[in-house]
Amino acid sequence: MTTGGPGAGAGSLRAPVSELNLILLGPPGAGKGTQAERITEDFDLPYISTGDILREAVKSGTELGRQAKEYMDRGELVPDDVIIGVILEKVESPEAADGFILDGFPRTVAQAEALDQAFAKLGRELTAAILLDVPDEEVVRRLSGRRISPAGRVYHVDFNPPKVPGRCDVDGSELIQRDDDKPEVIRKRLEVYHSSTAPLIGYYEDKGILRRFDGTMAPTEVHDHIRATIATLKLEDEL
Ligand code: AMP
Repeated sequence: MTTGGPGAGAGSLRAPVSELNLILLGPPGAGKGTQAERITEDFDLPYISTGDILREAVKSGTELGRQAKEYMDRGELVPDDVIIGVILEKVESPEAADGFILDGFPRTVAQAEALDQAFAKLGRELTAAILLDVPDEEVVRRLSGRRISPAGRVYHVDFNPPKVPGRCDVDGSELIQRDDDKPEVIRKRLEVYHSSTAPLIGYYEDKGILRRFDGTMAPTEVHDHIRATIATLKLEDEL
């Protein structure tokens, strides 16, 4: 992945834009969605969230949603063969040709290997795996207080309360708790994270692309660190 270098000026063929193929790792509630939203704006990348794709599929009652719902309700992972094809299709779409930010995938070593294989065939590679580190007790505190509006605005009963309890500040709609943010499901999701997803930390460390961030810092601070790291990676890639 190199660009045109010093000779690529006016009149020469346009240098290809360097790809930023990013994945976000971390437990549920680590702030992946919040950071992804900001990075997407900083670097103009398409945002691919498996959780959002699956929740949308459940809402609209598609075959994917039908297959995924029972697993999601229990806080378990949707089977690899259900999710891998859906996500690879997104990553290989023209919109993601210059890069993307992937939130919630891969979640198992089998998913990571499928992504690697698909990328190897395309001659592409991942730029970085961004890990947001947050201890379990903080995850439980964050998720059990999380409330969302039907339009997807996110509040927290302690850290980001709405002006009127239970009502969205913007449109007054009733806030709800995601089924999988209920305490017993949170515990299950954490268990699944440690057994199935945390092994990916070593997987990407071995490949030399893991970048670790302290997810307990304020979201703005976490964002500043991530943005600086990605900007450096992009610069190195363009040299
Ligand atoms: P999230 O919003 O990322 O926490 O995802 C919500 C739920 O969707 C998870 O608890 C899983 O049931 C399911 N899910 C999301 N991403 C994946 C994935 N890559 N593999 C399997 N299941 C997933």
